[in-house]
Amino acid sequence: MKFVFITGGVVSSLGKGLTSASIGALLEQQRFKVGMLKMDPYFNVDPGTMNPCQHGEVYVLNDGAETDLDLGHYERFTHATLSRKNSVSSGQIYSAVLQKEREGAYLGTTVQVIPHITDEIKRRIQLCATENVDVLLVEIGGVVGDIEGLPYLEALRQWSQEKGRENVVFVHLTLLPYLRVSSELKSKPSQQSVAELRKIGIQPDILVCRTEIPMDASIREKLSLFCNVPLASVIEERDVQTSTYELPLRLHEQKLEERLLSHLHLPYTEKPLSIWEDILHRIQSPKATVTIGVIGKYTEVQDAYKSIDEALVHAGIANECKVVIRTLDSEALESDGTENVLSGLDGILIPGGFGLRGLEGKIRAIRYARERKVPFLGICLGMQLVVVEFARNVLGYADACSTEVNPQTTCPVIDQMESQKKSCGKGGTMRLGAQPCILTPGSRMESVYGERVISERHRHRYELNSMYADALEKAGLHLVGHHETSHIVEAVEIREHPWFIGVQFHPEFQSKPYAPHPLFVDFVRASRVNQPQK
Ligand code: GLN
Repeated sequence: MKFVFITGGVVSSLGKGLTSASIGALLEQQRFKVGMLKMDPYFNVDPGTMNPCQHGEVYVLNDGAETDLDLGHYERFTHATLSRKNSVSSGQIYSAVLQKEREGAYLGTTVQVIPHITDEIKRRIQLCATENVDVLLVEIGGVVGDIEGLPYLEALRQWSQEKGRENVVFVHLTLLPYLRVSSELKSKPSQQSVAELRKIGIQPDILVCRTEIPMDASIREKLSLFCNVPLASVIEERDVQTSTYELPLRLHEQKLEERLLSHLHLPYTEKPLSIWEDILHRIQSPKATVTIGVIGKYTEVQDAYKSIDEALVHAGIANECKVVIRTLDSEALESDGTENVLSGLDGILIPGGFGLRGLEGKIRAIRYARERKVPFLGICLGMQLVVVEFARNVLGYADACSTEVNPQTTCPVIDQMESQKKSCGKGGTMRLGAQPCILTPGSRMESVYGERVISERHRHRYELNSMYADALEKAGLHLVGHHETSHIVEAVEIREHPWFIGVQFHPEFQSKPYAPHPLFVDFVRASRVNQPQK
């Protein structure tokens, strides 16, 4: 078993997740089976309790694990099988150690960071080093120099000692700041970051440098000399021009995987990267442009709806069109004049969400899409609000609401699931992960999927209240997807509309650039067809 450890230097948000995912993709092209593990030094047990504005979207796996959004990059770029054990945090590590201590498992010894925390970190790495993995990639969250990241680096150092240096490669992703006034790239922060790693006993083997402009020979030489990395292992990662799916190609051009495999004493074979070339070619040569409005409340950050953005890009690839995503703040739609903001959109999407803020704006946007016959996709909260809007404006139930935001409503069309009423506490307590869903024969949903039984991932506490099912159906909101064994409504649609679907699950988590999700593909197709003739 071989290991690739990826650390980050200088600043956070450098794209370590994307770089790790791209390395995974390159190794898969070389026919290696890759495993992916993210280790985050924060103390939340998982990101499930974190605000998307702070940490980006919460990505949900098939087994219901609420994980860091980097796991989304891993699933989009590689075929690695991911589950709960592939997303580790200090919260989990320390809880496990403390629990063992209470059980008396340490037999009277003093419990310390070294060896107890580091042993637990190594145990978690070992758990991912399964038989069906040739190379395990481990990405350490945060930046080298963070206090809470130290135990991880120490564990990696020990690991490379124990497993043998020929079985481990250290990749350090760093930033070369560009000083515009003097038109130069600076190497000092990277030198310092590598010095910090060396202090712990880790010598990076490969340096991947984020940069705005091309690196010239002199800066490469300087980095090689001061960071003690061979010249050919100083890799440039320039800001991509069109899409992040460019990244595997750019890294391949610089022979990143060849360097990596030579460190690991594994064979490298020259192979074309046809999948990624094809994806990029399609992204770069669109035949049309479709504008989709994503109406949410976590709009001030880039990554809050990451998987939705990516799924729309994938659907664009499938439809040979460029999807322009306009992220709109639902609170801004709460006052009059909604139409100005919404006109000009070819399709409207309401993503998942929680709480009251911006809710009425989303409901207005749904009404607009329904009445003006604009293609519409509602996801999770988006579907729940479809039901609220329909109940209020078609059935005339003025007080209709979800009990999540109005527990006193006389018309609780969306109500807490029975199973959730008993659950207390936050974090891992929602209805989570993949569930089978049966689609109604003859529905648009069935024709979009081309299947009657589907499996999709969930993350919610509330559901359509079955007391209102008949009334909604009779008035034209068809309940076309049900959980396999319970009454839970998983999908609704309006037939007398060009394209109007709401789903209780999150299809965005299963879309890949080379396997776009049918629901997004058909939504974008309909949005394109529905465009006013220009
Ligand atoms: N807040 C809603 C619920 O808990 C929707 C959740 C979501 O959109 N992920 O049911």
